[in-house]
Amino acid sequence: MPNEFVASVHEIDLTRLRRAGRRLILCDLDNTLVPWNDPDVPEDLRSWIARGQAMGFTFCIVSNNRGPRVQRFAEKTGLPHIAAARKPKPEAFEEAMRRFSARPEETVMVGDQLLTDVRGGNRCGAYTILVAPIHPREWWGTRLVRIAERFVMRRLLRRGLQVPHRGGGRMEGSGSSWKKRT
Ligand SMILES: [Mg+2]
Repeated sequence: MPNEFVASVHEIDLTRLRRAGRRLILCDLDNTLVPWNDPDVPEDLRSWIARGQAMGFTFCIVSNNRGPRVQRFAEKTGLPHIAAARKPKPEAFEEAMRRFSARPEETVMVGDQLLTDVRGGNRCGAYTILVAPIHPREWWGTRLVRIAERFVMRRLLRRGLQVPHRGGGRMEGSGSSWKKRT
């Protein structure tokens, strides 16, 4: 169960997180910050990162994707990164917290996948924020995991997980994509 579920990173209440003593934001890359394997860094993402940094947050990319892909994004944004992180295994999360001397209760994990990002973040004691995937296009391995995720999501919704609103429409999970109900 994530602590929060939001439609996109732009919906994250950074002020509230900062007041609660959080200062390290571990961020998944693909389908959380940008579409899967998309090399571009949109301007609104740059300003979101800059705003967070101005508030005192440190961002670190924690991605299961391969080194070169993650590194190119990291170079464009100037963010530190851990690639081939093998989430939900704890090692990458622990390495990031060690690198920035942050305790779990000071750490936030943001990602679009329940079974890697949220599960891994929860295990390490971080505050976890699930974001709706940016785009339905995904790596085949991720698509497989989404099948299992669909069952977990159904249970979480029954347990009261609140699905975020986007653009006025309610978002509905369908496993491989989050559709806006019209
Ligand atoms: Mg992802």
